[in-house]
Amino acid sequence: MARYIFITGGVVSSLGKGLMAASLAALLQARGFRVRIRKFDPYLNVDPGTMSPYQHGEVYVTDDGAETDLDLGHYERFTGVSARQSDNVTQGRVYQTIIQRERRGDYLGATVQVIPHVTDEIKAFATADTEDLDFVLCEIGGTVGDIESLPFMEAIRQLHNDLDRGQSIFVHVTLVPFIAAAGELKTKPTQHSVRELTSLGIQPDILLCRCEHPLPDSERRKIALFCNVRPEAVIPALDASSIYAVPTQYHAEGLDEEVLRAFGIGDAPKPSLDRWLDIMDRQQNPEGEVTIGVVGKYVGLPDAYKSLYEALTHGGFANRVKVKIKWIDAELFEKGDDVAANLEPMHGILVPGGFGVRGSEGKIASVKFARERNVPFFGICLGMQMACIEGARNTAGIPDASTTEFGETSEPVVGLITEWMGKEGLQKRTAETDLGGTMRLGAYPAKLTGNSVVAGIYGTDEISERHRHRYEVNAGYREPLEKGGLIFSGMSPDGTLPEIVERPDHPWFVGVQFHPELKSKPFDPHPLFASFIEAAVKQSRLV
Ligand code: GLN
Repeated sequence: MARYIFITGGVVSSLGKGLMAASLAALLQARGFRVRIRKFDPYLNVDPGTMSPYQHGEVYVTDDGAETDLDLGHYERFTGVSARQSDNVTQGRVYQTIIQRERRGDYLGATVQVIPHVTDEIKAFATADTEDLDFVLCEIGGTVGDIESLPFMEAIRQLHNDLDRGQSIFVHVTLVPFIAAAGELKTKPTQHSVRELTSLGIQPDILLCRCEHPLPDSERRKIALFCNVRPEAVIPALDASSIYAVPTQYHAEGLDEEVLRAFGIGDAPKPSLDRWLDIMDRQQNPEGEVTIGVVGKYVGLPDAYKSLYEALTHGGFANRVKVKIKWIDAELFEKGDDVAANLEPMHGILVPGGFGVRGSEGKIASVKFARERNVPFFGICLGMQMACIEGARNTAGIPDASTTEFGETSEPVVGLITEWMGKEGLQKRTAETDLGGTMRLGAYPAKLTGNSVVAGIYGTDEISERHRHRYEVNAGYREPLEKGGLIFSGMSPDGTLPEIVERPDHPWFVGVQFHPELKSKPFDPHPLFASFIEAAVKQSRLV
């Protein structure tokens, strides 16, 4: 039977609970246990799919097509366990499920209430599909004391009681701030936070204390005394040099040991941390450096491109180089900033996914620069669509090429599938996947042309990658685009949807309709990112 680790946060938000959960799961996995991490978000959106990247950062997409919190990306990157729809639940979805049920009359006239109906639903989400697991880590979003997280706190309190003794524990992540004027770390906020938690009926077993300075033994003992935990269960969590240093750092502080002790597991194998040590070695001892220009819309907002940032870093691990990312606001190129002056120092140019017309001409200008100057180019989702529009305009003699996403156009090189596909083809697709005018979400297979650049990179001609888009490159433009040198080298298995384009006569020019960054892992860098960074290393030797 699975054991449960409930993770809550106190004092302030942004303490890195998600990374903590991912790191603890990685440590348990390194000892041979089977793990899964779940995230409970107290907000009322049904999922983060409709939330602005400014509010919420990246929307992470799972194989089974769920739009989820970006913490699920950390979970996957740290454990290699593919996240599922059922691993992220929001309060909005809980209420939606209950209200639909109520409208159907399923409650047989009963009054529907937070306790037990909402809490039961939360407990059902936490415990579903856990048969083949040793540990389920449940991270509760938000901070103790928030009104909206109360049903989740109550649900985990109940679940702790429902489960057998020793089958679940509570880990509370808090902040121990340093007051410069006093020159001291302060434990009072942690004491208050734990008091708040205990008032909800939850006594934490382990406290993970984020601090910017080493926690003296005296303060550790003080926290233990006031918060009713053993001193060894007060784990200092100093800021790490990199997120990939967190698992080994927490291990050195005894986190996994304490967790196992709290469960009464005395005979667990020692963790094998070789892969984490190897990643840290690659990160700390790079043999070179490349600069990648990411030309996008949400600059100054690294969380909006979280997985992309990590995947580029992984590409660096694969090549033992440091990847410096220069975020470039595409809109500035429309306002007169010089494209060449900005992009000349780059060893690779990447146009990421995005929505809407703002900055698009700047992105197209960046594709043109990369193509003409033979600089490695990687277009992802909207980036591939921009590469096709650039190719149509400048190498296929279609000057009015555009996408219907930006408004009406006489040359819809990119459009909604319903707009460009013939009736017969459309019926074929919609019968299978219900695509018409909605987002294509989750994993889809693609078939690669045997002798293409990408088939060489992947080492196979059949792949599966994750999608999140509404618009598709119009296969009707294949001939003129290919004549202009832009080859459709990956298609949906039925041959209707272009999934990958490439320029074989260019040092490295690839556009993909999917999001490969979502599947990259530090210990298993995505082949496209590894290859793109390799090309950037070659480019760096030329300039
Ligand atoms: N806006 C484009 C579409 O919906 C691309 C989406 C994306 O880049 N994720 O097709």
